[in-house]
Amino acid sequence: MKKIVFLTGAGVSAESGIKTFRSDDGLWENHPVEKVADICGWYENPLYVNQFYNMLRSQLQTKQPNLAHRLIAQLEEKFDVVVVTQNVDNLHERAGSSSVIHLHGELMKVCSSKDKEDVLQHRELTENDLIVKDGELSADGSLLRPYIVWFGEPVPMLDKAIEEVSSADVVVVVGTSFKVYPAAGLIHYARKDAQLFCIDPNQTSAPTSLGITFIKKKATEGMQELMKLMKF
Ligand code: NAD
Repeated sequence: MKKIVFLTGAGVSAESGIKTFRSDDGLWENHPVEKVADICGWYENPLYVNQFYNMLRSQLQTKQPNLAHRLIAQLEEKFDVVVVTQNVDNLHERAGSSSVIHLHGELMKVCSSKDKEDVLQHRELTENDLIVKDGELSADGSLLRPYIVWFGEPVPMLDKAIEEVSSADVVVVVGTSFKVYPAAGLIHYARKDAQLFCIDPNQTSAPTSLGITFIKKKATEGMQELMKLMKF
């Protein structure tokens, strides 16, 4: 079975009504990026960060997967599909994708701030249990924190993502600015004979030397075009 690896970013969820990352003045959802997406921001003001992620979680409950998420899931009928996403939302899973690697963590998970990767302290939040109270502790006595990879932190799923990309027959990038590393470098691990596509209406930073076929459309429209190219 042919293997397709999708590398997705904030753009795949844009048509679900979730804003992409950074506005020109360095804000994410009207909050300074260095305060809410950087480990230093957490050390400086964990309450502010906790409230920001509580807000994002509540907002996520009002959003639905869009056609692009659903078509990616549908491709599993004919292909071995792996999604490597930078997104922290759960829209790929809710659309039915069964193999999703979250490079930058998951909004619906919290963990110990002493040892982020201690799985015994991971807690899955649910629609009815979304809010982490200010000052709420993990079992090890440290503050509960969002299970998010912030700037300044290692990317634990990187090796797994490299393994998936380097064994793919087809790699499709959807809706990422190629500006956040190491995720932006993953495309370079594709096999020389792999087919490469990039779906993004406004891509300016993708490497031009790799022979990527650009589909300059929004994710939902671009995915419909890709389905035809994949003879689905
Ligand atoms: P980015 O915001 O830097 O880039 C978004 C890209 O999507 C741009 O290239 C833009 O042209 C493209 N785009 C915009 N609308 C699109 C559409 N309808 N269809 C297809 N493409 C579209 O996002 P990034 O590269 O993913 O990096 C941002 C970081 O922010 C990631 O690490 C991610 O974890 C985080 N983030 C996640 C979410 C989410 O979970 N949904 C949302 C915002 C930010």
